[in-house]
Amino acid sequence: MAVAHFRFYAELNEFLVSDRRGRDTALSFQPPVPVRHLIENFGVPHTEVEIILLNGVSVPLEQPVMNGDRVSVYPMFESIDVSPLLRLRERVLRQPRFLADAHLGRLAGYLRMLGFDTLYPVAGDDRVVAARAEEEGRIILTRDRALLMRRAVTHGCYLRPIAPRKQLSYLLQRLDLCRLIHPFSRCIRCNALLEPVARKQVETQLPPAVRTAHKRFWRCRACGRLYWRGSHYRHMQTFIADHCPD
Ligand SMILES: [Zn+2]
Repeated sequence: MAVAHFRFYAELNEFLVSDRRGRDTALSFQPPVPVRHLIENFGVPHTEVEIILLNGVSVPLEQPVMNGDRVSVYPMFESIDVSPLLRLRERVLRQPRFLADAHLGRLAGYLRMLGFDTLYPVAGDDRVVAARAEEEGRIILTRDRALLMRRAVTHGCYLRPIAPRKQLSYLLQRLDLCRLIHPFSRCIRCNALLEPVARKQVETQLPPAVRTAHKRFWRCRACGRLYWRGSHYRHMQTFIADHCPD
């Protein structure tokens, strides 16, 4: 048996049992084992880890751990320049795409409202969900740690908050999404793209109050649902102003 010492930093501690938080913990194992396995042994999904230092040197997830090694594990940094260190994965795509796991329907709706391509729901078990995300280059959003621990999952995000608006706020910050918001580009119901449509083309489908109060309309290319800048839009503007200060 070999023994290595692990230390987890910042919010990664929230995944640990309480007596392992904020301190060095010795772990026995049978080498050779990739560092990813040992980190997940602590309950921390590899998708939540941004940088691993092994005896002070940054290493990839598949690096084998040896007897006596010291391992420091860090989440994504918000503001520290870590460019000399090896990040475990490429920065998210310029326009990230998402796959929202079961029970995240409200969050999926919010993301679509902000213009993010978000698949939901996905029928099938964890294996199917992971494969679909990999094929389509989507970031998995979930509250299921076991799903993020699957090897096929490269980009995922564990949502600590439970309330949908708090989940959205967490995501905007963690993935730096504010600059990528495009309201009125995607259908909240079906995720297809919207197109502007002239009022006279849709007049007969509008409630009278909407017909007189609004000039600009959008229509979903797939399901035909109509959109205008009503109270939803004002709530969204307030949310963006609160969470994405210039
Ligand atoms: Zn639609």
